[in-house]
Amino acid sequence: MKVTEIMKKKMSFSFEVFPPKSDKPIEPLLDTLEHLYEFNPDFISCTYGAGGTNAGRNMEICKAIKDSGKSIPVTHYTCIGNTKEKMKQELQRYLDMGVDHILALRGDLPKGWEGTRGDFNYANELVQYIKSNFPKFTIAVSGNPEKHFESYSFDEDITHLRIKQDAGADYIMTQLCHDVDQYCWWVEKIRKAGVSMPIDVGVMPILSKDPTIRMAVSNGSSIPRDLAEIIARYGDNPEDFKKAGKEYSAKQIFKFINAGIDGLHIYSLNKWQDVTDIIKDVGIR
Ligand code: FAD
Repeated sequence: MKVTEIMKKKMSFSFEVFPPKSDKPIEPLLDTLEHLYEFNPDFISCTYGAGGTNAGRNMEICKAIKDSGKSIPVTHYTCIGNTKEKMKQELQRYLDMGVDHILALRGDLPKGWEGTRGDFNYANELVQYIKSNFPKFTIAVSGNPEKHFESYSFDEDITHLRIKQDAGADYIMTQLCHDVDQYCWWVEKIRKAGVSMPIDVGVMPILSKDPTIRMAVSNGSSIPRDLAEIIARYGDNPEDFKKAGKEYSAKQIFKFINAGIDGLHIYSLNKWQDVTDIIKDVGIR
C-alpha cells in the first residue's frame, strides 16, 4: 500500500533511522528495527549521507525493512554529487529490491561547496526526473515550517514547495519544528498558496542538551521558551534533562495530534528505548 493511501484513511505513524557508517556493523540497527516494528509503524524512512557516502548502507537497511515484511521502507535520496547516470542505476536498484517510496531532497551542501556538484541543483528537478523516469515511486519532499534557512522569505520558500508539488511530489515530510503554533501558521499559509499535499510531521525527541541545540541551530529552527527553560534548568544534568526532555517530547506529540496532522514521523535517532518511553507516555500505540 502507498503511504499516501494510508494517510487518507488515518494519521500515519512512522520512524526515521540512519544507517551505520561503512566500517561499523549493521546488527545493532537491525536489532533497533525489531524493537521499532513492535509499534507497527506504517513506514520507516532511512537517511542518505551527503554525497552518497553511505548509500550502500542505506540500501542494506531499506532492503532489510522490505524483507522483514513489517513496514514500508522509504529511502531518503539527495542530489549532492549525483549524476543522472548514477541516479538512474541507484533508483532502479531500489525498485528492484521493492523499495518504491522515496524522500527526494537536494541535500545539505557540504562545507565549502557552492552547488550540488551533481546534475540537479534543487529537489524539484529530482522530483521531476523520478516522476518521468521511475513513475512507480511515491515521492515525498521536505517542508520547512520555519522556512529553509537559505530562503529570504516564507513566500519564496513556499513557492519552491509548490514547484515540487507541481513536479509530481505526493506528500510532505517536515523539518524539525518545536513550535506547534508556528507549524499551524505555516500550514494555513501553504494551503492558501495552493499546496495541498498531505503533511507528515517530523518530531525530534529531546534527549540531550548539545544535540538539541545543535540540530535546531543547524536547521535554522527556533527553540521555544518552554524548551529553553528545560535547557537552562537541566542542561548540566544529563539524567534530569533526558527525563524532562522525554516529557516535553510526549507533550509535543499530543499538541501536533490535536492540531490535526496527516502523519507523525518520529526521528528515532536509532534510540529505541528512549523512543519507546515517549510513545508509551503518549499512549498512541
Ligand atoms: P530544496 O527543496 O531544493 O530547497 C533548498 C533551498 O533552495 C530552499 O531554500 C528553497 O527555498 C530553495 N529552492 C528550492 N527550489 C529552488 C529553485 N528551483 N530555484 C531556486 N531556489 C530553490 N539531508 C541529507 O543530506 N540526507 C538526508 O537523509 C536528509 N533527510 C532529511 C529528512 C527530512 C524529513 C528533512 C526535512 C530534511 C532532510 N535532509 C537530509 C536535509 C535536507 O537535505 C536539507 O534541508 C537541504 O538543505 C535542503 O534540501 P531540500 O530538499 O529541502 O531542498
